[in-house]
Amino acid sequence: MNNYHPSEGKNKYGRPIEFRGIVGNQKTLRRITRCIASQSLPNLILLTGPTGCGKTTLGRIIARATLCRNKGIGEFEPCGRCSSCGIDSIHQHALFDELDSNLFCDERLIDLNHDLQNTGRVFLLDEIQELPQRYAQALKKSVEDIAAHLILCTTHPAQLDDALYNRLKANEFRLTRPTEQEVVDYLTMRCQMLGVTSDSPNQLLRVARAYNLEMRPCSQFPAKALVEANGCITDEYLDEVFGESECQPSAVIDSAVEVPFNRPLI
Ligand SMILES: [Zn+2]
Repeated sequence: MNNYHPSEGKNKYGRPIEFRGIVGNQKTLRRITRCIASQSLPNLILLTGPTGCGKTTLGRIIARATLCRNKGIGEFEPCGRCSSCGIDSIHQHALFDELDSNLFCDERLIDLNHDLQNTGRVFLLDEIQELPQRYAQALKKSVEDIAAHLILCTTHPAQLDDALYNRLKANEFRLTRPTEQEVVDYLTMRCQMLGVTSDSPNQLLRVARAYNLEMRPCSQFPAKALVEANGCITDEYLDEVFGESECQPSAVIDSAVEVPFNRPLI
């Protein structure tokens, strides 16, 4: 069954499955989508950024776009209709594999070394700073020349093996959490779509701040309010969800606030 939601670019779990469903990071997205549109996306890419900024979600969308069978030259979004795109989870795809750095083992390394030579496969390896040292060193050799696509993600690039990071940094894409304004704009749009109302714009800012600008809980909040508060966001409801002591915004936001990231630009 095709659960593709064209109006939002998200799947039934509320996760974006298209680039246009991603909130924030528009400059980085433009770099990536230009590469995909011109069919020049490097086989090996590194996505870095703080927890909750959407590295894994973006990696899965890149995998969808890479595996899409209908995408022509100049296009970058997954088509949403082919056997690669018309699935709710990219994990259902036979040519995609998401690996856990904590569960890496000798057998997995042997398999990966072999599979990385297969054109058409896409691998996502998350939190690679947690990869044991000997596997990190082996990976550095494995990625010298690959035919498959390998997407690596890390929250802490500073903790990576230096030689491995040197190999990866030419194809690094840095992400940040969305700005407060971007999250509030998204919440406003999502509430309007669901018919959820709020007493004041500050309430959505309070939601964004309470969830520390992490998109996963923010994106689920309007539907939660629909069920729990009958679609009416009030201060009393927010007190119930977040507690009365939690800091409340004193004024309507008027500027975007970037969340800093911890590896200096080189
Ligand atoms: Zn497709």
